Amino acid sequence: MAVFECDRCGKCCVSFGHLITIERQLSDLDYYCRCKIDNSVFPVHVDPAYGEEIADEIAADEAAHSGKEKKPCRFLRKNRQGEGTHCAVYSTRPEICRDFRCYRMVIRNHKGDICGRVVGKNTISTEDAALEHLWKEQVAVVPYRDTTAWKEKVAGILSERGYSADIVE
Ligand code: SF4
Ligand code: SF4
Repeated sequence: MAVFECDRCGKCCVSFGHLITIERQLSDLDYYCRCKIDNSVFPVHVDPAYGEEIADEIAADEAAHSGKEKKPCRFLRKNRQGEGTHCAVYSTRPEICRDFRCYRMVIRNHKGDICGRVVGKNTISTEDAALEHLWKEQVAVVPYRDTTAWKEKVAGILSERGYSADIVE
């Protein structure tokens, strides 16, 4: 089993983040929110470093009466400490965000380095041309009826060519 590691690209927060909406502001840093995916409601606490800009943005949108939903999540911010993005409510983010895995399998080469990731049902994300070719020719055609059988079959095909597959926790 491989441990899922988020590289903070923020893509998931852009694509489904608009489904996390603010129901009510409770204080300068606290909001009551709803996740429209599972209709859950939850309180969030905003990192003070981002509190003012988020509150100002909400106030500006309300004043403009735009009526448009913001597509990326309201709490997605540029990471001020380095590259990538930052969830301004990370410690209180909803279950849907905690559970989300944008890839479900990692593939390692003979040196043990990660050289590919499986996203969605059976799509490969890799810069290894040989692995990409192998995937297209032999793995993508493996029928996906049963997850366990699929994983075993794929792991077997990869191991014959010096790769190993790890399921993400
Ligand atoms: S879970 Fe995946 S898509 Fe979302 S921010 Fe992390 S690496 Fe990016
Ligand atoms: S609450 Fe945080 S982790 Fe969830 S979509 Fe928004 S920014 Fe991303």
